[in-house]
Amino acid sequence: MKSVKTKGSLILVSVPIGNMGDLSKRAYEMLKSVDCIACEDTRVTGKLLAKLPIANRPDLISYRDENESYLAEKLAERIDAGEEIALVSDAGTPAISDPGFRLVRECHRRRLAVTSTPGPCAAIAALSISGLPSDGFFFTGFLPPKRAARQRFLKSYQDFGYTIVAYESCHRVSKFINDLVDSLGPNRCICVARELTKKHETVFSGPAYEVLQHIEQGSIKGEFVICIAKDGFVL
Ligand code: SAM
Repeated sequence: MKSVKTKGSLILVSVPIGNMGDLSKRAYEMLKSVDCIACEDTRVTGKLLAKLPIANRPDLISYRDENESYLAEKLAERIDAGEEIALVSDAGTPAISDPGFRLVRECHRRRLAVTSTPGPCAAIAALSISGLPSDGFFFTGFLPPKRAARQRFLKSYQDFGYTIVAYESCHRVSKFINDLVDSLGPNRCICVARELTKKHETVFSGPAYEVLQHIEQGSIKGEFVICIAKDGFVL
């Protein structure tokens, strides 16, 4: 006898961080077969889907920081009723410095299945090519935007024994590294990974003062990941 399916599932689908070739076959299969795709910006995800051969595009629903609490319940109800729902970010892995945590938590609370098609994540890509110790690390997402708070944060992790991985925008990357030099010293070993997987990818690893010189001499457009090695590490 065929089993009757009563509940659906939530699938976190990782999408490229810059290079379309990084969309996995499994991610593609998932995106074309689900009932609905919850995404940050429907225009961004719409453009991604337009590049794929998908005959019947699933509905897109905008799931953002502003409506996350409300929609987490609504989407979980739909999954409970049998739908397969994919969650994607504009880029990379959902729920990693992006919306998703509340929906995942809601599904766990309701004992609904949560799975993933793993793939691109800027933090992991940067750490893996940084040359900094990667046996253990602390991912902080974005540091506080204000200088004093950022410096306090950096100082509080001065003696932390693992690599710290942070995201930063092009508007603040220079200030971030200047604060890092002030708080942790010019010789602290860091890696700044810019525009990963894209045409203008650049990766600088070395003492913070040297990396800062490179960054300030070159283009500071684009997206950045900053990895900070533990005190005493020399590349
Ligand atoms: N969920 C995403 C992930 O899995 O990587 C991260 C989303 S977070 C809102 C966006 C930040 O990720 C950017 O500001 C930047 O710090 C980093 N980022 C995303 N794509 C990147 C890339 N191609 N190169 C370097 N950093 C990137």
